[in-house]
Amino acid sequence: MPEFQRFSYDVLVIGAGGAGLRAAIEAGAAGAKVGVVCKSLLGKAHTVMAEGGIAAALGNVDDRDNWRVHFADTMRGGQYLNNWRMAELHAKEAPECVCELEAWGALFDRTTDGKILQRNFGGHRYPRLAHVGDRTGLEMIRTLQDHGIHTGMEVHMECTVLSLLMDGDRIAGACGYDREKGRFQLWEAKAVVLATGGIGRAFKVTSNSWEYTGDGLALAYRAGAELQDMEFVQFHPTGMVWPISVSGILVTEGVRGEGGVLRNSEGRRFMFDDIPDLYKEQTADSEEEGWRYTQGDKNARRPPELLTRDHVARCINREVKAGRGSPHGGVYLDISWIKERMPKSEEHIKRKLPSMYHQFKQLADLDITKEPMEVGPTTHYMMGGIRVDGDSQMSNVPGLFAAGEAAAGLHGANRLGGNSLSDLVVFGKRAGRFAAEFANANGPVTIDEEELQTTATAALAPFDRGPAGENPYQIQYDLQETMQDLVGIVRVESEMQQALEAIGQLSARAERTGIAGNREYNNGWHTTIDIGNMMIVSEAITRAALLRKESRGAQFREDFPNKDSEWGKYNIIISRSADGEMQVEKRALTPMPDELKKVIEEMK
Ligand code: FAD
Repeated sequence: MPEFQRFSYDVLVIGAGGAGLRAAIEAGAAGAKVGVVCKSLLGKAHTVMAEGGIAAALGNVDDRDNWRVHFADTMRGGQYLNNWRMAELHAKEAPECVCELEAWGALFDRTTDGKILQRNFGGHRYPRLAHVGDRTGLEMIRTLQDHGIHTGMEVHMECTVLSLLMDGDRIAGACGYDREKGRFQLWEAKAVVLATGGIGRAFKVTSNSWEYTGDGLALAYRAGAELQDMEFVQFHPTGMVWPISVSGILVTEGVRGEGGVLRNSEGRRFMFDDIPDLYKEQTADSEEEGWRYTQGDKNARRPPELLTRDHVARCINREVKAGRGSPHGGVYLDISWIKERMPKSEEHIKRKLPSMYHQFKQLADLDITKEPMEVGPTTHYMMGGIRVDGDSQMSNVPGLFAAGEAAAGLHGANRLGGNSLSDLVVFGKRAGRFAAEFANANGPVTIDEEELQTTATAALAPFDRGPAGENPYQIQYDLQETMQDLVGIVRVESEMQQALEAIGQLSARAERTGIAGNREYNNGWHTTIDIGNMMIVSEAITRAALLRKESRGAQFREDFPNKDSEWGKYNIIISRSADGEMQVEKRALTPMPDELKKVIEEMK
């Protein structure tokens, strides 16, 4: 019988990105004993990769900004499928959370009069993103870690959670293993916060790192939690397309915020050709006006390159398909052109976008101050995730909370850039507070020892089958190809049906994986575990995308190319039936209070 190392907490936080750390700090401050588990080393979570900034209506650069504008922008960006309560709390609480980071030592870029500087980003009416050059996530993680470590949280690094444990209907903790030695661990807890980030690795081309295999969503689903909005996967318009070995790596929206423009192979700024009605009033009608906007002219409207990500990604896709793409299957993103307008433009670009300068120099031998980049869409962010209560972040499973990218609701059908980092701190903080309250109000849990042993035995089964079993890497690759080709930016019923069939076959193969070697740092073993989670996530995305028979936000259906007002009344919910089948249903949105409706009307 496999042995377990045992730990006991009031609150267990799974994930040490921005959301997890913020939750752990808050739960600790409320007096809870807190454990944090993460798959990689502390400081290596996805959040560290965030570049452009954190959205908060501080109004430092444009004093017309306030929570009402931010709320309306977020709802419009999400095509009104957002959980309005989350959008309201987020807009109201983000400024305070950014100031909190500053008080804990985060060194944001400054205005000339010493306030936190804010930059333009797609879909935000005013300059709203507080930033640290293009390394905002790094500063955020550094700050949260420095602050958090003094609150007494115990961190279990390089540990993968395999399963959530239940005590009747209530959460009782989690079990997993350490990746270094393969030893099993049990983290008993009265409340659990899932902050495991995204799912990008279910697709072939992605900006996400190896960790983002949708574990949290699959763990929650298996434990009985509902998932929501799974059809909405964000394809960021600008990922690197060349060299092929780095394809998918993100090119921050900050490039366009600083004046970068998109052109096709004919040199045309094609984004001016297709401006959605919802944004016509807010979009520049000349290149001149767009440039003035990026340079801070308050009377100018934003250039069409700063329309929402779903739209820009589709426009790029259209140019490439029409044969007007760049040599490696993207389009051109040019920031070097600003030399026509700005003296010392090279220094300016290097100062504003240092990571982008180095990224292209080192990976593609290209100097972005002199030449255009080649870019194309890349799988970037998951709007869908675990369905939670807007105020407390608790799921439908008592004691199970979720925050950050793993949770659904705030972003609806499409997330605005910068709204993730603010999501992490606003809702990480709330999840931590309410998890601590839950732990305080509920007694100890009992661990089901049999369940524990069953989980460990299943995890070790690939060793018993040995190298004769199915190759986990091949299954992962086949799944990524399937999702990329059949459930990507442009979707159609027949292809998604094909994808479902393929996922069924791949899931069956995933049950028969075999591996060689022992439990110490065995990447093959880790992959056998990842693919089980990726199957659940991929099936959920495909089923939700099939059910939503319209195009809205990040979901574009070639067979239903228009938005359908009837579908605008529903979220799609995924859950596990008693017999283990995946169920998909539509559920009516909660009616929005009149005062919030009024805010949206006023901002139109
Ligand atoms: P993450 O930071 O993704 O952390 C997840 C944690 O969960 C990790 O510690 C991981 O180890 C752990 N974990 C996962 N599975 C398990 C498991 N089974 N067991 C144990 N631990 C597990 N957003 C913005 O708002 N502004 C930006 O400028 C911006 N730029 C971005 C640039 C890039 C390149 C990328 C990829 C994303 C960017 N985003 C940006 C999005 C944003 O960074 C992410 O959405 C956000 O950081 C997610 O944070 P999180 O705390 O939810 O999860």
